[in-house]
Amino acid sequence: MERLIEGYKHFLKDVFPRRRDQFHLLAEMQAPEWLFITCSDSRVVPDLILGTGPGDLFITRNAGNVVPIGSGDVDGVTATIEYAVEVLKVKHAILCGHSDCGALKAALDRKGLENLPKARRWLSHVEAAFSHRQPPNPADGEHAELAALIRGNVVAQLLNLKAQPSVAQAVAHGKLTVHGWYYDILSGCIEQYDEEMRRFLPLILDAAGGKR
Ligand SMILES: [Zn+2]
Repeated sequence: MERLIEGYKHFLKDVFPRRRDQFHLLAEMQAPEWLFITCSDSRVVPDLILGTGPGDLFITRNAGNVVPIGSGDVDGVTATIEYAVEVLKVKHAILCGHSDCGALKAALDRKGLENLPKARRWLSHVEAAFSHRQPPNPADGEHAELAALIRGNVVAQLLNLKAQPSVAQAVAHGKLTVHGWYYDILSGCIEQYDEEMRRFLPLILDAAGGKR
């Protein structure tokens, strides 16, 4: 815990005073423009990747960046989405998967979940990834099969996201745009799903490490 305490001391002493005005403005309201749905994976750090900060991203995270559908249950993800769209009125909803995702690895390998009944049930939500699996990208090397499935999961969860009643309505009225992203941890590159072309393309053409 020492590292976290040291980090917090740094925040109180150096970071907070510099941004005091911003935190005061945010103390009683938020108006984020973006809903960001991503995996719990510690290597995906949205504010670091996107240059955002307090008040910018409304974030919900879970194993496999899942948007559960069809269960009839209330869950934290869909409740968060509903609040973001209906109350905060975010303009964009971004669903972001990532390379080397353990959730999709488990779905592919069918191993390691024997003693994890809850994780096993949760990951049944990523089964749809198999029907939306993307063509393997040679740039992904030996991980091409997994990466193709992870991209397929982004497409599957994007469909689930668009099927949420609040999202469907906001999109129909031109108030909300949804995006599907794949973030590559090794290169830092983000790809965006192009629904017309039904494939992933670089979010920006000259992305760092842009060897793709
Ligand atoms: Zn993951």
